[in-house]
Amino acid sequence: MSIKRSAFLRNLAFGLSTSFVLAACGGAPTDTADSDDPAAADSAGSEAVTGTLTVATEPAFPPFEFQNEDGELDGFDIDLMTAIGEAAGLEVQFESLPFDGIIPALQAGTVDAAISGMTITEERLQTVDFSRPYVKAGLAIAVKEENTEVATLDDLQDKKIAVQIGTTGAEQAAEIPGAEISTFDSAPLALQELANGNVDAVINDAPVTLDAIASGNIDGLKVVGELLTTEFYGIAMPKGSENVEIVNDALMTMMEDGTYAEIYQEWFGEEPPELPESAF
Ligand code: GLN
Repeated sequence: MSIKRSAFLRNLAFGLSTSFVLAACGGAPTDTADSDDPAAADSAGSEAVTGTLTVATEPAFPPFEFQNEDGELDGFDIDLMTAIGEAAGLEVQFESLPFDGIIPALQAGTVDAAISGMTITEERLQTVDFSRPYVKAGLAIAVKEENTEVATLDDLQDKKIAVQIGTTGAEQAAEIPGAEISTFDSAPLALQELANGNVDAVINDAPVTLDAIASGNIDGLKVVGELLTTEFYGIAMPKGSENVEIVNDALMTMMEDGTYAEIYQEWFGEEPPELPESAF
């Protein structure tokens, strides 16, 4: 199943296309890494890693993570993390958490990692570690289709803005003078508030807002202006976790052997962009 792409979308947001297939969700690993696996051999202790990795995600952020029609976790992040598990010889067990509960869960050690469209920020790096960047994204402003007033952040002064709690979009909105901010638990809820006409704008990750519009999940909205930021998503892990190296080795292997590009193609319909080795 694919969603029609429009020229509008093709010209926006890093060319992230909205054409995607609903890939089989999760799925049992087809292939388990053995001790010859370079990803495992390079990692600390150079033993093949065995065991289960508990991975938190907030599944209301399509196309990165969401619940599909069968109620199963699905999305780019889910497929990527599952493949990382396969490459590293680890079984991945997902755990759904609210987005603003993910970092506390990592700090408390109740989960081993989190993949949730999470931007690598200086602030978060104080409390958790991140893998190398695995997606390039950024924030965008959404308004009602008929809105001709708002094109930039400056136009949002004294306006009503909806955001998802605990996100980089919420941080960006907090800096706008006079803005009246309402926070929601998920991005789709913030976008729905805008569609309902209760706020003037939403600041959210561009690929997710564009996907919500293109998929028809939310009606009557458009993305305006330039992308506000360039952000890189990373897989978050507790500070000092030995899994950082294991995850990075697996990601590196997948970026070299084409597995990463294949998953990216499947969800975004194009070649992945160049990614830096670190966000800063
Ligand atoms: N990328 C944004 C952030 O990290 C939003 C993530 C999300 O809502 N899942 O804050």
